[in-house]
Amino acid sequence: MEVTNDNSCSWINDLNPRTNITTLQSDKECEWLIIGAGYTGLSAARKLGELCPNKQVIIIDSQLAGEGASSRNSGYLVDTTLNDGFTSNKELENYKKKADIYKLGIEAVKKFIKQFQVDCDWNECGKYFASSNEEDKKILQNFSETLSKLGFEHNILFNKDLRKRLGTNFYNIALHTKGGILLHPGKLVRAMIDVLPENVNLYENSSLLNWKKNNSMINCNFKNGSIKTKKIIFATNGFLKSLGIKKNYNFPITLTASMTRSLTDKEFRSIGEPREWGVLPVKPMGATIRMTKDKRILIRNTAEVHNPYKMSKSVLDKRSIKQKIGIKKRFPQLPDDIVQSTWSGIVSRTRNSSQIFEKLDDNIFIAGCYNGSGIGVGTLFGEQIAIKASNEQSKEIRTIEARNKPTWLPPQPFLNLGIKTRLLYERIRARSEI
Ligand SMILES: Cc1cc2nc3c(=O)[nH]c(=O)nc-3n(C[C@H](O)[C@H](O)[C@H](O)COP(=O)(O)OP(=O)(O)OC[C@H]3O[C@@H](n4cnc5c(N)ncnc54)[C@H](O)[C@@H]3O)c2cc1C
Repeated sequence: MEVTNDNSCSWINDLNPRTNITTLQSDKECEWLIIGAGYTGLSAARKLGELCPNKQVIIIDSQLAGEGASSRNSGYLVDTTLNDGFTSNKELENYKKKADIYKLGIEAVKKFIKQFQVDCDWNECGKYFASSNEEDKKILQNFSETLSKLGFEHNILFNKDLRKRLGTNFYNIALHTKGGILLHPGKLVRAMIDVLPENVNLYENSSLLNWKKNNSMINCNFKNGSIKTKKIIFATNGFLKSLGIKKNYNFPITLTASMTRSLTDKEFRSIGEPREWGVLPVKPMGATIRMTKDKRILIRNTAEVHNPYKMSKSVLDKRSIKQKIGIKKRFPQLPDDIVQSTWSGIVSRTRNSSQIFEKLDDNIFIAGCYNGSGIGVGTLFGEQIAIKASNEQSKEIRTIEARNKPTWLPPQPFLNLGIKTRLLYERIRARSEI
């Protein structure tokens, strides 16, 4: 089965169409094979190119490279994620381990854009965790205590300030963290494709159908050819489970988002001409909403269990209506017809929100499951899994491996039933914030 995604995503439409696209049409052999060309796979390929310049590396993707979740996300490079406060030092310690990984993720992306002079609309403007519900103050105060203990600069803001900064009267309370970065996810991943080293060959529109390890070689079959490789890295994130990889430890979730056209000067004035900003919800199923540097509004307010291979146009259109309502609630003065594109994307989750980073078997490696932090953590994990697979060590690997490991998930149909019930519960809790 092939990954066929909708082709309407403003981030992708902003970029020049690619021309140098090669599909696998014959049988090949290589030293290294990477499955999946998003932030993780491309970062692994770049690092392997650097570590083993004389070895043949192949990276292959079902669709066009980078055009999965890596181009379809909301563009928050996060330093922290929200929690409801901690009751024990052990919990605080675990949160710190996670934050240490986010920090390394930010450093990895920063280093990449500096080294290759990448323009991806980088803006160190921080991010808001915001709510219209004043009762969420308690959650934000607890979170503030956690951030203070760990030395993260932040402050709590109320309606009047928020109205000025965000151009909407919707939010009554927010916590602003200084460390978050906003960027253009499509430009970032496109740069990762453009700088692939010479010994790396990229094949696209070529889906891995099945794979098998035979003694020291791994045989991979695609529609129009096969690849025999000595070592393999799986970087398919939301599609790990459908390839049978760590299938009792991760599951895919489908998200949808919409983006408006740029606001006209008059429309922009009507909302008070705010600077670029990004809001994350206090309740997990609330809306992520962002004002881009070129005055577009992005909103993501759905997360669901869905077939990860395709979302039909009619289902996507229904999600788009929810997003138009979400924008209207926050900006009633703007016209109704300003949404320019709506798209879906697949992320991978684990039960305890921990990531996967490991050697599955001799010469078989996996990295994935970042939930909403894949821009930084995917870039970091891609580079570091390449180092691990080359039998090298690094301080980053030690930090990554100090985290909690993903916990076991129940089999189907109990798994989907459990996830759907949880999502429904969270949706009800966040109903005013969608
Ligand atoms: C709407 C949305 C909003 C998000 N917002 C944020 C955010 O603000 N900040 C953040 O950090 N993260 C965010 N994320 C998550 C982030 O996009 C992902 O964590 C990140 O893209 C993961 O990168 P990756 O390279 O591991 O996976 P992907 O980008 O998903 O790449 C995996 C690739 O594997 C390919 N593949 C799958 N199966 C096969 C196969 N059988 N054969 C060959 N190739 C295959 C796919 O085509 C895909 O290109 C968001 C995601 C979505 C969808």
